[in-house]
Amino acid sequence: MSFSDKDRLGRRNQLVDRYDRHLNYLRISVTDRCNLSCLYCAPRRGGQIPPKLNHEEVLRYEEILRLVRIGAELGISKVRVTGGEPLVRKDLPKFIKELSKIEAISDISLTTNGVLLLKYLDRLKETGIRRLNISLDTLNRKKFEKITGQNSFEKVWAGIMAAHEMGFFPIKINAVAMKGINDDEFMDLARLSLRYPFSIRFIEHMPIGDSASAGGRISADEIIERISSVGRVIPVAHESHDGPAVRYRFEDAPGEIGLIQPMSHHFCGQCNRLRLTANGHLRPCLLHDREIDLKALLREGATDSELAERFLEAVHFKPLRHYLAEKGERVNSRMSAIGG
Ligand code: SAM
Repeated sequence: MSFSDKDRLGRRNQLVDRYDRHLNYLRISVTDRCNLSCLYCAPRRGGQIPPKLNHEEVLRYEEILRLVRIGAELGISKVRVTGGEPLVRKDLPKFIKELSKIEAISDISLTTNGVLLLKYLDRLKETGIRRLNISLDTLNRKKFEKITGQNSFEKVWAGIMAAHEMGFFPIKINAVAMKGINDDEFMDLARLSLRYPFSIRFIEHMPIGDSASAGGRISADEIIERISSVGRVIPVAHESHDGPAVRYRFEDAPGEIGLIQPMSHHFCGQCNRLRLTANGHLRPCLLHDREIDLKALLREGATDSELAERFLEAVHFKPLRHYLAEKGERVNSRMSAIGG
């Protein structure tokens, strides 16, 4: 059965929270390890990469699949595989293939930094996955190294081009907006949408984990103002796959611009997400540290219905919204473990 056939099945969603939000989207961090250490995500401390989870602390693929099946019974239909860097985990394409066999899951996507993309594209294509989000904060190889700690711009760019040629679609390019670091490149990044059918998405920096060193914050309104000097930006109507991005395009452009503005215009009212962290915790909100430890329950022999109860509990305590911008709060967990 193809993903789109499954789309038509339709399921009753039991994952409705106190604020009547219907949660049908699970983001899974398959590892907290990464081959980059980006300033805004996992910056090096004194040249050291931050500590990682031990092997046995990370959920095994079969444990993740069991939890996704339970989530799917409750109404999860969309899954994003993320991390850490998902492609550093062994046998990721095999895992995605298994995910795609879960009847109720109609939409599977992958978020990657693209460093290993070229190597895995053939195997990824065989799984049926087409939707890729690729992080790329700069088009300048020196700056790429400064932001990520690795000289891998060429690899990422080659991966993006090959994915495009092989028919992956949509391809979304994620750039975290950092004042004094990549704000001089917003126009060049936006211009990619004039040449390729990519969605170029600018993400406001969020105060998560150790990410204090990521330059100053820059709001989505400022970003759109800068991009407007490339050409007239036309608003694009919202579609079901958009998530929180506010979309624009330049006239006659094959691609689009997206703004993800969790700080200046939070979109908590439309949030439909739950997260499964690399160490097996169910986290109802990216920006609140409260989680339920499903791994402990799984490994103590909990039944499917006991685990399903915990899903409902997590949904129940999903907060109405975050107040990071207003109260200057921070999120303590690391983005790589939560799953960005
Ligand atoms: N390794 C993969 C990658 O680089 O795309 C997946 C994990 S990464 C944590 C997922 C997304 O989170 C990336 O698009 C990244 O830009 C974004 N991200 C990480 N830390 C962030 C922060 N502090 N503020 C905003 N976005 C962030």
